[in-house]
Amino acid sequence: MPQQLSQLGEFGLIAQIRERFRAPEGVTGIGDDCAILPQNTGRDTLVSTDMLIEGTHFLRRDISPYDLGWKSAAVNISDIAAMGGHPTATFLSLALPGNVTTEWTDEFLRGYAELSDRFGVPLLGGDTTASPDRICINVTVLGECPSVRGALRRDGAKKGDVICVTGTLGDSAGGLKAIFKGLRRDADVQRLIERHYRPVPRVPEGEELRLNLGVNAMMDLSDGLASDLQHILDASGMDAEIDLAAIPLSLALKHVCASQGWDPVQLAVSGGEDYELLFTCTPQAEALLSVPHFVIGKITDRTRGTARITWRGAQGPVAPGFDQRRGNKTGVHKNGHWCNKSGHLPPQNPRKGPKTPTGVQKYRVEWLFSVRLSQAASISSTGYSWQGLAPDGQNAKSLPASRRSMALESGTENRHL
Ligand code: ADP
Ligand code: MG
Repeated sequence: MPQQLSQLGEFGLIAQIRERFRAPEGVTGIGDDCAILPQNTGRDTLVSTDMLIEGTHFLRRDISPYDLGWKSAAVNISDIAAMGGHPTATFLSLALPGNVTTEWTDEFLRGYAELSDRFGVPLLGGDTTASPDRICINVTVLGECPSVRGALRRDGAKKGDVICVTGTLGDSAGGLKAIFKGLRRDADVQRLIERHYRPVPRVPEGEELRLNLGVNAMMDLSDGLASDLQHILDASGMDAEIDLAAIPLSLALKHVCASQGWDPVQLAVSGGEDYELLFTCTPQAEALLSVPHFVIGKITDRTRGTARITWRGAQGPVAPGFDQRRGNKTGVHKNGHWCNKSGHLPPQNPRKGPKTPTGVQKYRVEWLFSVRLSQAASISSTGYSWQGLAPDGQNAKSLPASRRSMALESGTENRHL
């Protein structure tokens, strides 16, 4: 009996596609941040693509065209960084309704160019067409890396590896929440909003991590720690322990959360779009890493059929992120990821919530805190103390002390110290 996409969900559909189109021998296809195509030049080509639809991933009146252009390029280039690759080109396809102005397209391209130029990535083509009413943006990104010590995949995590992230988490989710709540844009709020609208992919960090033989698995954090770590564990056949107190939080996030009564750890664990790198490596390699990073947990043996994350130090249930296999109500979008890749919306037919775009977005945040909490699982609250880093994120490893706070507090600019 035919199943509706709303039941199948995004990952069910991807599994259906994967079943029908097997990758040729030696080629890595569906399942990682990029496809990996070996070339006979001693280098592998990396390819990834992403689509952004008005009303689903962004609202035209909320995001400036400049930021949308920036973010469209950034989130795609981040998938190359996620594998330790070097981005080489993007292709931009636009389907635009007639009421989009040339001022809008100018600004969009300015933002797109600014981010692309920062990493020296040329735009080499694309497609342009009319759309009846919504803006649709598709970006394809190409990258490369040497075949020897090739792309860092999600499936290499090993027992005993430490789990690390390259920067503070939760800022983007805090920024989104601040936008919805209409918070006054003081310096802290502004910093969070900037991290939401103008993520900076961790390209040099990714390339450096790929060269380190002790780094075993890597991906970028687009959907949130709880969801994305699950992908590494699924692919690697492992479990994990995360020390919540070791998750790095920016001072801006802590300030805003304190004044609003929000839980910053909840935002850091379940919120998406930080575009930091999540990687696992041997403790020996970690001790010598030059890339700024925070140790947040460790990889453990698989204890049962499905991957399990134990959240150390949890006072109560931790939202593990949406069950990616269950799907959302629309099916074709991210499965309930409330804000990955420029903001996938929640189910289109929520049980509550107004139907206007603003209402939908508002619902998105409420949904994060209600539905996700109700799906809590695999929780351990032992108060375990990890030999990690201070929760205020002041101890970014491998940064000189004088630069640590700057690295954590200078928003997106912190990424290229
Ligand atoms: P990411 O968040 O890193 O961009 P996604 O969650 O979008 O990754 O996709 C997961 C995997 O599924 C990727 O390998 C992607 O290439 C693949 N994928 C997603 N949609 C499709 C599709 N329509 N056809 C083929 N592969 C797809
Ligand atoms: Mg990715």
